[in-house]
Amino acid sequence: MKIAVDIGHNLPNNRGAKSIGDEDVMVSEVGERLAVRLRMSGYDVLMVAPARAVSVSDSLVQRAARANDWHADLFVSIHMNAGGGRGTEVWIGSEKGRYIGEKVVSSIAGLGFRNRGVKLQGKDGKGLYVLKHTRMTAILVEGCFVDSKADMELYDPERMAFAIWRGIVAGLNRIQARPTLKRGSEYRNEVMHLQSLLGIRVDGIFGPATEKAAREFQRETGIQVDGIVGPETWGEILLK
Ligand SMILES: [Zn+2]
Repeated sequence: MKIAVDIGHNLPNNRGAKSIGDEDVMVSEVGERLAVRLRMSGYDVLMVAPARAVSVSDSLVQRAARANDWHADLFVSIHMNAGGGRGTEVWIGSEKGRYIGEKVVSSIAGLGFRNRGVKLQGKDGKGLYVLKHTRMTAILVEGCFVDSKADMELYDPERMAFAIWRGIVAGLNRIQARPTLKRGSEYRNEVMHLQSLLGIRVDGIFGPATEKAAREFQRETGIQVDGIVGPETWGEILLK
């Protein structure tokens, strides 16, 4: 499992928000700790923030390109928020990110931050370059608000990194622990979820139509075509 970690900003021409807290400093101290924890958990981690860039857009292009070239399974961008609110939120590039996004945002909220929820780019707000241009499941974490006194009193880099790590690991483990579904499977709720993800009629019955859709999906993604939805197919459906 390959995870690209993107520490936001931190370039002379791409500075983060600065108020009570300094986003550049905060995302570095959280992102570095997160990478250490993920590596200790056995994940391959690539830090994708560039050492230099000629502009903000060049900085963003490089981050997405590195994750794409490396064929990461998951992209995690670390940011802090500003603008007068308080609490934590996670942005997702597509519905594929919602599962892990929910785990991460509720894990951070567990530290005491207000839970502002998971937000889908394009629907809940404008597009974010790194979410739009990465080809794998991508989330962008807005840890807390640098201009909120309450948030900054709660903020601790070690605890924030731990919460993000815990959310990611919980999400990935749940995906890998999904039951294997095939013709005649009885996991009605899981079959319904599968059907909605495959974009077919949701009736909770794994019959010929579901098997056909599963085979089509497997063929399109280049994995073994057997119509059985096991760990590999679940991983492709939920993360890619
Ligand atoms: Zn930012």
